[in-house]
This record gives sequence, C-alpha cells and structure tokens, in this order.
Amino acid sequence: MDIQLLGGAGRVTGSCYLVRVAGQQVLLDCGLIQGLAKDEQGNRDAFPFDPAAIDAVVLSHAHIDHSGRLPLLVRAGFRGPIYTHRACRDLCRIMLKDAAYLNERDAEWENRKRARRELPPLEPLYTLDDARAALRQFKGLAYGKRQRIGPGLRLCLHDAGHILGSAIVELELSENGVARKLVFSGDLGQTGAPILEDPAVIREADLVLMESTYGDRLHRSLQQTWQEIGEIIESARSGKGNVLIPAFAVGRTQDLLYLFARNFDAWSLDRWQIVLDSPMAIAATEVYYRHNELYDAEARRLWNRDQRKTVLPNLSLSQTTNQSMRVNRISSGAIIISASGMCTGGRIRHHLKHNIWRRGCHLIFVGYQATGTLGRAIVDGAREIKLWGETIKVRANVHTVGGLSAHADQAGLTSWYEHFVNRPPLVLVHGEPDSSDALAKHLRERLQAPVSVGAPGQRIPLG
Ligand SMILES: [Zn+2]
Ligand SMILES: [Zn+2]
Repeated sequence: MDIQLLGGAGRVTGSCYLVRVAGQQVLLDCGLIQGLAKDEQGNRDAFPFDPAAIDAVVLSHAHIDHSGRLPLLVRAGFRGPIYTHRACRDLCRIMLKDAAYLNERDAEWENRKRARRELPPLEPLYTLDDARAALRQFKGLAYGKRQRIGPGLRLCLHDAGHILGSAIVELELSENGVARKLVFSGDLGQTGAPILEDPAVIREADLVLMESTYGDRLHRSLQQTWQEIGEIIESARSGKGNVLIPAFAVGRTQDLLYLFARNFDAWSLDRWQIVLDSPMAIAATEVYYRHNELYDAEARRLWNRDQRKTVLPNLSLSQTTNQSMRVNRISSGAIIISASGMCTGGRIRHHLKHNIWRRGCHLIFVGYQATGTLGRAIVDGAREIKLWGETIKVRANVHTVGGLSAHADQAGLTSWYEHFVNRPPLVLVHGEPDSSDALAKHLRERLQAPVSVGAPGQRIPLG
C-alpha cells in the first residue's frame, strides 16, 4: 500500500493524492489548479491514472482547489462514491455549479474573440451538466463516525475548523494482515476563529500529510484583528461615504456577518445599513445557518436561525441585479459586502466604480490578494484603476486587515502535529516551497520531527 502525491505538492492549489491498498484505489481530493494561465492549462490535462479504475474519492472540503476537478473526473469515467461531510456536500452544490457557470461564460467570451479570428471554438473546462452529474455521486457523512468504504479501508472524518464541513481525513488501511493509519490534515483552520470549532486533534498515525500554506508565518492575533475592523468602521462614520468589503462568498463573508452580530453595539453598527450583495454568498450563508450544529459554543448561542434577524436587524440581502443596482445608488451610510474577494469579477466591481473615487469612502480588504488581481493592485497603492475601459481615480481610504485567515499559521500547524504522541513521519503538502521548507526546518528543530516536503509525483510506501 502507498500514497502518491499527484497535485498540491510544491504548490497550494490542485490538491490530489492517490491511495492504493488491497487492490483498491482511493483519491483524496480532486482540486483545480488556480493561478497563472499557463498553470491553469494543466486542468485540461488527462488524469495520470484511469478515472474509471478509481473506487472512491474522499473530499476534505468544498474549496475549489480541493473539489474543482471532480466534474472532470466523473466525465472521464469515475462512477464511485465521493465521501465528504454533509455540509461540504451542501456547499459543493453551490460552488461546483458556480465554477461550471464561470467556465461556460469564459468559454463563450473567448469563443466570440476566436470567431473573429476564424479560430475553432474552445470547449468550456466543464459544464453545469458535468457538475450536476458529479454532485449525484456525493455521499454526505458526519464527523467522528468510522465506516468501512471498501475492502481493507475504513474512513473517519474530523472537524478541520477551516470552513463549514471541512475535514481532517483519517484512513485505516489494511493489506495482508498489515494495518496502517494515514491522516490527511486537509486545510487546517485557526484556533479561536469565528463560528467554527477548533481543528480536532488526533493522537496517533503511521503517516501524516499536512498542509503548509502559512508554514513560514505567524498571524496577528484574532482579537487585535477584530479590534482593527471595529476601529476602521468607527472612523468611517465621519466620512459621509460607504464602506466596501470585498469578501470570498464562502467562509470570509460568514465570518464578517458573525463578527458584526457579535460587535453590533461595540461598533455602533445600528448607524449603518449592512448589505450583502452576492447571490452566492447569500446561498452559502444559508448553508451555514442550516448546519449550526457545527458551530462552536459561542456562535451557537449568538447566531442561530431564530436570532439572526434580531442580532443583525439592519442586514439586507441583495439577490437580484435590480437590487444590486439600487445599492449602487446609495451614497453614504452603507457597509457593502460583496464578491469576488480579489475584485477579479462579480458585483464588487460595480461598487468600486461608484465608490472608489470618493474621498469619504473606505475599502477594507480582509482576505488574501493574489499577484495580478485588481484587489492586489489597489492594496499595493494604485492611484487609478481601469474598469470596463474607464479609468477611475482611487481616492477612497484603503485598509488591509491581515489576521482573518482561514488557515493555521506556523504555531498552529506545529501544535496540531505535536498532538501525535508517537511523532509519525510527516509529509508537508499544500504550500509554496519557501513556506513548506521553513515549516520543515522549524519542526525538525523544535520537535525532532521526521518531516519531509512532498515532491510532485512522489510515491510514499505505507506497508
Ligand atoms: Zn481550503
Ligand atoms: Zn486549500
């Protein structure tokens, strides 16, 4: 038996690992490569295995860099079950359909250009039908329930505290009387983060695969981060403008709504109109409400379905295009949360057009801004931006709040591994080389951990 690192080794995106045991093949994650166009081309490559020969998939969580190639896997012949947490399944219903919609729209746009050059049309990466077919193979599970998923294979999911329904995957494998336990961290959340429980700890394993996104970094404390957001909103009140917050539709948006509810009085939020302007974020928030059994104790007290109107009475949901256009006409007193989180698409671009040139307005970035995105350009101090061919001056106050990460930092990752009392061999994945290397060095020095950084294609024996 062994595990092979097919994606998400030496990089963050494209998470995909293949476990072989007792004649079975199980895929952990099947994620999309995201980043530069030339890397994303890899999403169109054939899988380095026969999809029809895969017996099952275990999906750690709904983020597209973990789930985004499942529709392709199914189209290529995979017919087995996709095991994941129930809440992850519900989020995937939103996210995979959205990804498919964007694929179809991008291909259409590209093909209009290609037609003018008499080039043959491109197929979308996958379609809505492909996404629907994949979703039919999902099997929703609960945390902490051990179950047999094939000969020599038992699966148990544990809460990873990263986004709703995110899981640490524990696989018990046996072959010819030899038993091994493999633990895959998935993406690990920050201890103390809003809404969700802290990442579950596991005490024993024979091999651990751990993410290392922020292996070289320590986050600013959550308390300080929340205080910072509160202060910006307080100070924005004198500006006679709006506050715009570009946010990822799943995870970050719900964190913000929750923080607003929790600090409603402290931040004098009754003086504002809070608008959530993103159909996808509204749908994802519904899924969060539906799964409040997964909240931590504080969130369960404060943010349940019955109370949601009373804890944030001035929240309005903007669903339709007309509603969104009405929000464009508000000149002051609104806090507008909208997607996409890096301003690369979505309704936030309309709000930027209407607000970013006005001195009294504020922009708060609460998420990672990748190189080359509009969000990154604004954070880096661009004096003007271009939207739909129009040049617009940047006069609004731009704030960057760094501490709201959905990932554990170096200290969090170290402490999660430290709970394994037998100090099992550890392979670092899901990180840029600098950050994985720094974490490996730290773990070797602090814990004498038998750690290595996973290489693309590497096959690690388990027997
Ligand atoms: Zn993730
Ligand atoms: Zn990830």
